[in-house]
Amino acid sequence: MGTLYGYPYSSRFQPRANLTPMSYCVAVRSPTIDPCHLPYHDTEYGFPLQNDNDLFERLILEINQAGLSWTTILKKRAGFREAYAQFDIPTIAAFSEDDHARLMADARIIRNRLKIKAATRNAQVALELISQHGSFAAWLNLHRGSDLTAWTKLFRKTFAFTGGEIVREFLVSTGYLPGAHDPDCPIYFLMPKE
Ligand SMILES: [Zn+2]
Repeated sequence: MGTLYGYPYSSRFQPRANLTPMSYCVAVRSPTIDPCHLPYHDTEYGFPLQNDNDLFERLILEINQAGLSWTTILKKRAGFREAYAQFDIPTIAAFSEDDHARLMADARIIRNRLKIKAATRNAQVALELISQHGSFAAWLNLHRGSDLTAWTKLFRKTFAFTGGEIVREFLVSTGYLPGAHDPDCPIYFLMPKE
C-alpha cells in the first residue's frame, strides 16, 4: 500500500486482493468502475463538511460500509437518507425499538442490527457533544491536527462501531486527515491546504 504524507492511500477501492492496490483517484477514472463513484470522488471525497447532519451521515455510511463495498453504500445512499430521517441527529437519537425493527425490514439500507443500533447510540453521543461544544463540527475541530492513532483512540472511546479503518475513511473523506486525493488528481487543487 502506498503512502501519502505518512498516511496509507485509501483502500476504498481495491479491485482484487492480488492486484496492485490503486488509489481512489486512479480507480475512479477506470472504465470499469461503477459510475456512481465519479460524482462522489469529484465533489465530496476529501471536501470538508460544516453541517453536523452531513458529518453524521458520513460517519454512519462509513460504519455501514464495514465488510461491504463503497459501491454498495453509494447505491443505497438515497434509501439511507429516507430510512434514517435525512440523518437528523436528534431524530435518530430518539429511535425506538420499533424504529430499529422498521430499519431491519428496510431493504434500501444495510440490515445489520449492530450497525443500526450503533447509529442510534452514536446520534445520542453526537447530541451530547453538541450540548458540550456547540456542534459536532466544533468537537472535531478541537482535535484537528491529531494523528490517526490519536483520532482512532478518541473515536473508539467516544463512538460505537468505530474501528481504525472506519475512523480513517471518515476523517480523510471529510478533510480532517490529508491524503484523499493524489497530487496529480484533477481534484487535488480543490483540497484545503494545511
Ligand atoms: Zn482524486
